[in-house]
Amino acid sequence: MTKRVVLIGHPVAHSLSGAMQQAAFDHLGVDARYELWDRTPAQLAETIAELRGEEFLGANVTIPHKERVVPLVDRQTEEAHATGAVNTLTREGRKLVGHNTDVAGFKVALDRLVGRQKMPRQAVVLGAGGGARAVVYGLIREGFQRVVVFNRHLHRGEQLVKHFGRSAAHMDLRAMPWHESILEAELAKAKVLVNATSIGLGDDSSPIPAEILMPELLVLDLIYKQTRLLRDAAAAGCTTADGETMLLHQGAAAFTLWTGEPAPIDSMHEALTAARADGVTSAEGEPGASAVAG
Ligand code: NDP
Repeated sequence: MTKRVVLIGHPVAHSLSGAMQQAAFDHLGVDARYELWDRTPAQLAETIAELRGEEFLGANVTIPHKERVVPLVDRQTEEAHATGAVNTLTREGRKLVGHNTDVAGFKVALDRLVGRQKMPRQAVVLGAGGGARAVVYGLIREGFQRVVVFNRHLHRGEQLVKHFGRSAAHMDLRAMPWHESILEAELAKAKVLVNATSIGLGDDSSPIPAEILMPELLVLDLIYKQTRLLRDAAAAGCTTADGETMLLHQGAAAFTLWTGEPAPIDSMHEALTAARADGVTSAEGEPGASAVAG
């Protein structure tokens, strides 16, 4: 029986995750198909219940369901519990387990960005959505001492900080209003800047002005392309990375959870590169993917 793995989101368009996971199944000769399921929040509970069937190896969950799916699973891993977000489901009999492999993906991306330098201790994070939760949790686990979160809607940044209250009790985690002067002051103290907003995904805008980027900054954009932020940062002399490493490694971790096999990273990377060359910029169906939907 061909096994099934599904990506549940709304909308879901032509996706980098699909290209990468199908390539991994095919490479290892796993008889499985990766399907894209566009489901509204109202359909979510019924959709999740369907995954308890034998033919399913599991699922990926994406915007806007990562947080809504939490109460629908039977068990959560530590990362899913800590972040309050689930991006991967596995099945144990008829029980569903919620995982967050974005945390593992972010760790690989951060390690590569930092390279041989000593792990820094101060970061600025832009955004307070599901991606930002994985980032902030990763920074807490990595031993960062000060992490400042800026978000368009300050209350969502404050909710994120509150959510991590206990695990961040030993360090300085705070949300600040998105004003250029405050951002500039915080960036002057930070060594790592992570963009976890979707600004720059659908158009060529940057979340921050180029003038406040200092050359010693390490800049990671979770978006899977050379965004304006990354180009401005490179021009200012910063070290930069886009979201590809995080995407690849969250996917590799999910693949291993579904199959029990080490992920064929090279094949997955090749499939990602080919899909990106075809113009696919989204793992799921966010704005920006529509040009290649189908
Ligand atoms: P969410 O929808 O949960 O969060 C979106 C974030 O972007 C919020 O902080 C939101 O702010 C902010 N935002 C969106 N539009 C604007 C705008 N016009 N101005 C200011 N802020 C804005 O999405 P995710 O956290 O899941 O994803 C965010 C980005 O990270 C996406 O581009 C996604 O592709 C990428 N991502 C990449 C991953 C990878 O593996 N590389 C993994 C996860 C995410 P507000 O709260 O104020 O609305």
